[in-house]
Amino acid sequence: MSGILLRGGQIVDPSQNIHRVGNLLIREGKIARIEISPHPASPSSGLSLGGDPSQIAVYDVSGSIILPGLIDLHTHLRDPGDPEKETIATGTAAAAAGGYTTILCMANTDPVNDSAKVTRTILDRCNRSAKVKVHPVGAITRGLAGKELADLDGMREGGIVAISDDGETVANADLLYRAMKWAASSHTLVISHCEDPDLSRNRPIHQGESALNLGIDGASPLAESLMVERDILLAEATGAWLHLAHISTAAAVNLIRRAKERGLSISAEATPHHLLLKDEDILTAAKERQGLFRVAPPLRSRFDVAALKKGLREGTIDMIATDHAPHLEQEKNLPFSSAKPGMIGLDIALPLCYQLVDEQKNSNFTFSQLVERMAATPGKRLGPILGQSSLGTLKVGAPADIAVFDPRPEWVIDSNHFFSRSKNTPFVGRKVQGRITMTFVDGKLAYQRMQK
Ligand SMILES: [Zn+2]
Repeated sequence: MSGILLRGGQIVDPSQNIHRVGNLLIREGKIARIEISPHPASPSSGLSLGGDPSQIAVYDVSGSIILPGLIDLHTHLRDPGDPEKETIATGTAAAAAGGYTTILCMANTDPVNDSAKVTRTILDRCNRSAKVKVHPVGAITRGLAGKELADLDGMREGGIVAISDDGETVANADLLYRAMKWAASSHTLVISHCEDPDLSRNRPIHQGESALNLGIDGASPLAESLMVERDILLAEATGAWLHLAHISTAAAVNLIRRAKERGLSISAEATPHHLLLKDEDILTAAKERQGLFRVAPPLRSRFDVAALKKGLREGTIDMIATDHAPHLEQEKNLPFSSAKPGMIGLDIALPLCYQLVDEQKNSNFTFSQLVERMAATPGKRLGPILGQSSLGTLKVGAPADIAVFDPRPEWVIDSNHFFSRSKNTPFVGRKVQGRITMTFVDGKLAYQRMQK
């Protein structure tokens, strides 16, 4: 076959301001042509992409949405180290099934990705078994221990695109300052996990009603905002490209807004769970399942969630990242304080976040904006680091990294359908609308939903 034709879909590409019915042609792994239908009501009429039709594989995607493949700057693939939780093969299969075509994987593997050797091991495994494009994140400090810098140069040569001690906060400001200096001169992103270790230690829950109700010590939002402000100041002083992971508080959103007004090159993400769940939701679960709601930073108050959504709409929160964090059932199906922090997200992030789309009401958040936050903006952040100008876009000539989303079906999230090896998410049982039906990476089908 010399080409693939996606016919009659709603093409949504914020990078080109396209939101119209049309056809998209893929040739040689790239987007070869987009043709917008002059008759949106009958999409197939009036379109002819030329060439020898017998050489083109045609998929009729009318009623579905064609969008740039999603890009996630924050996943944990547990490989090397914890194959019973996840591997590069299973984690990237979950990504493909969720419409993701590019992901970053964090350094808290076993061994930690703090040397060129581990970076190369990860990339070798990706070459063999990844279903989507994977870029490793290297540790900032050796063993994530916060004592000395990791082999930053070696890892960069090995192929990392960012550095982060994610899972841990780098408490030592001098170490982080030096890491940011290095990152600024080597065009590497610095991803910060912002939780003051002293303010959050042994306080796994948000300080509020739910903490009181459960009798657990709660962490103040200050644990996040103190570190966010420190890291913004360090980035300002060093010129580093700073990306703030999993922002959860209203206070942090305000600090980020102000920093952007000063013109700093910082970006911020929020997770689907911080946007869709509140601390009080923990109380709705049976005690032995409350552990599924444990994440770091913790789920916050209604007030924080509202501020986060506002930040997402206005772009202060640049993007949505899953913080996909697989754990075993025996580590999660536990009372809150006994559980490990983290939940999975790659399989279901788009249908979950589709619930944030609200095209009717005044608080407008359109599907196009959602695609911007999940593909275009992360692509723009990552592109310069990879030396690629066309990431997260459907522009002609760009790699054919594409997802097809059918917005019509209503369904209930069922852990039996996850491609991830782990099942730890409290969203199981939630009714959602829309699902990914196909994902292409460099023009090759990486996922296709089986028809019943
Ligand atoms: Zn984190």
